[in-house]
Amino acid sequence: MNSETKICQNCKKDFIIEPDDFGFYEKIKVPPPTFCSECRSQRRMLWRNVRNLYKNKCKASGHDENIISVYSADKTFVVYDQKYWWSDDYDPLDYGKDYDFSKPFFKQFIELFNQVPQCNISNVNPVNTEYTNMTIDSKDCYLIFSSTQNDNCYYSEGINNCKNSFDSFSSHHNDLLYQGIDCINCFNVSFSIKSDSCIDSMFLYDCKNCSNCFCCWNLRNKKYCIENIQYNKEDYLKKILDFNISSYSNLNKIKHVYELKSKDAIRKFADIINSESVSGNGIEFSRNCHEAFDVSRATNSKYVWRFLENNGSDNYDITVGTKPELCYESNGVGAGYYMRFSVGTGNSSNSQYTHSCVSGCNNLFGCISLRSKQYCILNKQYTKEAYEELVPKIIKHMNDMPYIDSKGRVYKYGEFFPSELSPFCYNETIAQEYFPLTKDEALSQGYKWKDKEERNYNIDIHGDAIPDSIKDIPDTDILNKVIECNHKGTCNQQCTEAFKIIPEELSFYRRMNLPLPRLCPNCRHYERLSQRNPMKLWHRSCMKEGCTNEFETSYSPKRPEIVYCERCYQQEVY
Ligand SMILES: [Zn+2]
Ligand SMILES: [Zn+2]
Ligand SMILES: [Zn+2]
Ligand SMILES: [Zn+2]
Repeated sequence: MNSETKICQNCKKDFIIEPDDFGFYEKIKVPPPTFCSECRSQRRMLWRNVRNLYKNKCKASGHDENIISVYSADKTFVVYDQKYWWSDDYDPLDYGKDYDFSKPFFKQFIELFNQVPQCNISNVNPVNTEYTNMTIDSKDCYLIFSSTQNDNCYYSEGINNCKNSFDSFSSHHNDLLYQGIDCINCFNVSFSIKSDSCIDSMFLYDCKNCSNCFCCWNLRNKKYCIENIQYNKEDYLKKILDFNISSYSNLNKIKHVYELKSKDAIRKFADIINSESVSGNGIEFSRNCHEAFDVSRATNSKYVWRFLENNGSDNYDITVGTKPELCYESNGVGAGYYMRFSVGTGNSSNSQYTHSCVSGCNNLFGCISLRSKQYCILNKQYTKEAYEELVPKIIKHMNDMPYIDSKGRVYKYGEFFPSELSPFCYNETIAQEYFPLTKDEALSQGYKWKDKEERNYNIDIHGDAIPDSIKDIPDTDILNKVIECNHKGTCNQQCTEAFKIIPEELSFYRRMNLPLPRLCPNCRHYERLSQRNPMKLWHRSCMKEGCTNEFETSYSPKRPEIVYCERCYQQEVY
């Protein structure tokens, strides 16, 4: 079979379907896509609100307790507290409907969605951890998201097996990490990127096995270095004292120097470890994976993002997964087998168009919030025979009477859920993090937008009125005060305009001798995101003079960094 060029229904740009892709679509019996891979990724993300939590009430009858929820109180969905949602005290099959051949499938799906109870947030085994979402086994954590097995961690996302860490992203096995991005096995390290097994250091870029280093890049097994220059211990310690990082203004100056100096760093075209035949970034122990980002131990997969410490195989188009196999066009797959077009599945198989169906479901079509069920359609129970007879008829009906959205995009069988039916506004979801839009752009593309909520608090302190040094901040003065975010809601980063410092946080800054932040947690998250490469690849050649190697890299040709092929990087950096 040849490759084929198609025009994306959404962005109207060309995209190519390769022979291998056709092979996969045939194997899992789905038609080829009509959206390009980026628009498909954006569409899946539109159904994923990770970090916008609201005060709400549990809607179960007789319940009225306050809960936090990814669904804001102005939305009409029935939201249950997760403890009740997981209980046997109600039956989601009570909401079941007969399939109606006079209406498009997606219209029927969303009508059901508006009635079946939704889970307020999704945390597995939280201990003394309330304000988090999409976490597993967190203890004493606050505002961490999409993370597993952390202890005493705050304001972070995509972290695993970390302790006592704040404001970090995509990092694992660290203790006392602050503002770390893609860091592994570090202890007492701040403001660092892609560093591994480092101790007592700050402002590192791509350093390994270093201790007591400050503002350094591409170093291996070094001690007492500043700006990649070797010092003796005494001089190093004296210089570090002079930097006086407990002051916010000094810290900002140093950040600026680090940004300028680390431009000299040599960048490997992609972070790929122990893998063969792969393209993407942040890939380890994987084989035959393409356009893959942040994946570990994956095989035969394409267009996948964030598989952490698991063995996903034969997957296309997955946005966050743990052990998916033979899955396609899904967002949030935990141990799924042959799941297609689904959101938030756990331990389920052989199903399509499910939302929040978990705990050993199989053979479901268009179902919501089911547990341990099989042969259901629109939450109605069928026999195996009746189910197998009806599903092909529904698929045919989806093609004969597709859902057409307000912008004319046609959703037949084989498309993920339409974006305009998402329970979330564009800027509540991670689509805004990876495909940022302004309000006008979002509305003109047919997406919903969440306007700023009316403030029901007053600002106590403006960012520039916070004492410069952590040493000048008395406890009683700062805790419980409402601090204004320096971005003041003007930045399109889901800015909450104001924030508070919590006691654990203040003692952390004191212990680390660091000044208080001036931005709200969401703006801090976006600043970290901006320091990572996009999930996009460009074909480029090695910038080392005389080298002709070419590669796929997430450094666009317009960027200033020095990008080398694997061989030249190894020669220079090791
Ligand atoms: Zn497109
Ligand atoms: Zn902000
Ligand atoms: Zn901001
Ligand atoms: Zn080279």
